[in-house]
Amino acid sequence: MEKMRKKIVAGNWKMNKTITETLSFFDEFSKLYDELKENQAEIIIFPPYTSLSILSEKMKNYGIFVGAQNLHEKDNGAYTGEISASMIQSAGCNYVLIGHSERRHFFSESNDLLNQKLKTSLKHKINSIICVGETLSEREAGNHFSIVNKQIKFFLKDITPDQLSKVIIAYEPVWAIGTGKTASPEQANEMHYEIRNTIRNLYSDSIANNISILYGGSVNEENSGILFHQSEIDGGLVGGASLNPKSFLKIIQSAN
Ligand code: PEP
Repeated sequence: MEKMRKKIVAGNWKMNKTITETLSFFDEFSKLYDELKENQAEIIIFPPYTSLSILSEKMKNYGIFVGAQNLHEKDNGAYTGEISASMIQSAGCNYVLIGHSERRHFFSESNDLLNQKLKTSLKHKINSIICVGETLSEREAGNHFSIVNKQIKFFLKDITPDQLSKVIIAYEPVWAIGTGKTASPEQANEMHYEIRNTIRNLYSDSIANNISILYGGSVNEENSGILFHQSEIDGGLVGGASLNPKSFLKIIQSAN
């Protein structure tokens, strides 16, 4: 069946860049972006919360989206230090990352909690990148497919077919995030194929063929081209290399 999916390149800045550093990134990135002859990829940047508003205001003239790295499952209330869906929207953003492996591992976010977060995000009609991926020991034990399938099924519990048009999946093997080790194009492609099959079984052929599945884990300007051109890979979620405007731009270009 013909592939309808466009390429998406997303940058996750994690806990990096002050507002001043965000503005310097924007100045350099926007100049380089203006010089691009062609860009077919959808670009999304996930800065820290303090930069959401200023970056989304600046990027909207370039058609580049900005999103939050997390959200709370409740709409409001006594949850000190948290951020809600409507706060993200009021900062001009319509994307959120849910279940990044650092949230799962350092902040003990469970599969059940992540399902609640996704429901909240979709209730507010926010586009959501949901993150899944196995640890090194799970891969070495040969459990990587079953672990990732389980994560997908938990994430999508009670999510309707209509809501799925606002969901993007990011496959990020934990052993490849921030380590300089990348899944080989074959390893990544076969996991994406498996994830798409799971979506096919849970929903339908057309939903499976239309959902975007991004690869994440030490993507850089050298490896992005080959990864992004695998049949099942629809772009990438980039951490470290998205902090540098030149590298991020090269990665974006490699998606064409
Ligand atoms: C990420 O933060 O999602 C990520 C994949 O990080 P890195 O590219 O630095 O491995």
